[in-house]
Amino acid sequence: MKKLSVVVPAYNEEETLELFLNEVNKQTAELPLEKVFLFINDGSTDNTLDVLKKLSNKYDNVKYISFSRNFGKEAALIAGLEVSDGDFITVMDADLQDPPEMLNEMFEKITEGYDVVGTRRVSRVGEPPIRSFFAKKFYKLINKISDTEMVDGVRDFRLMTRQVCDSILEVKENNRFSKGIFSWVGFKTTYLPYENRERIAGNTSWNFWGLLKYSVDGIVNFSDTPLNIATFVGFISFLTSLLLSIFYLLKTLIFGDPVQGFPTLIVLILLLGGLQLLSIGIIGKYISKIFLETKGRPNYIIKESNIE
Ligand code: UDP
Ligand code: MG
Repeated sequence: MKKLSVVVPAYNEEETLELFLNEVNKQTAELPLEKVFLFINDGSTDNTLDVLKKLSNKYDNVKYISFSRNFGKEAALIAGLEVSDGDFITVMDADLQDPPEMLNEMFEKITEGYDVVGTRRVSRVGEPPIRSFFAKKFYKLINKISDTEMVDGVRDFRLMTRQVCDSILEVKENNRFSKGIFSWVGFKTTYLPYENRERIAGNTSWNFWGLLKYSVDGIVNFSDTPLNIATFVGFISFLTSLLLSIFYLLKTLIFGDPVQGFPTLIVLILLLGGLQLLSIGIIGKYISKIFLETKGRPNYIIKESNIE
């Protein structure tokens, strides 16, 4: 029988893990695959690790990795993919927001010849409206300015073949924006739609600022449009100032120089100063990415694990 690695990042999920495990086992009983669960404890501050140890003692097919601190879901994902050894790999949230029964249909698609079967939320029921609003805007924006297509509502929840997983691991960048990387590697992909679900227990670990930072990371990692805009705006204002100076020179030569235009001066200084700071900020964002990348730090540090 072929093997399925189920990669599950877990941050403060003590209440959900056992429910998750039972539900997945129940819903995928018919799946002709041998399941191995890979939980990544992402520096939880609750009893997630103890629960994982208990579960791994109880079930042979439960493995865990525990980080030395919270490294974020992206790091947890990559750690899971790196240690996974299944012929097929799926990535799921621990809170059962990713419907496990979909795995059956997803595997069917794989047998039909797809390399990747992703999932897409068609509704955002139960999510704060403000979050849905900004999420929509983000996908509109990023698809305009990046060559890598990112479909609105696509979740990290997906089933892929070994080959796709290996390709994702080939992408060595440190600042990982998984949604972009998954799409960037290509392969024959399809998305199955489903209705949003609320998490079974515990709390979401995202807040507004966290999501905003995540969006900026997505843009900076997968688009250089902001840099082009900065360059373009700089060029236009340079051109304008050149034309203006010729205009003023001629005006002074013809009409003399009564001291006027003080407000214009202030406005222009503020405008140009503002544009410069904005552009420097944008450039700084990219440089900080380069800075982090050149340091070549590992994505995560493992404190303990039951994987030999
Ligand atoms: N998660 C993680 N590290 C983090 C934050 C979240 O491993 O720093 C995991 C979390 O345990 C869950 C998944 O990522 O399995 C999705 O998190 P959450 O449900 O909080 O996000 P949401 O569903 O609200 O987008
Ligand atoms: Mg969730």
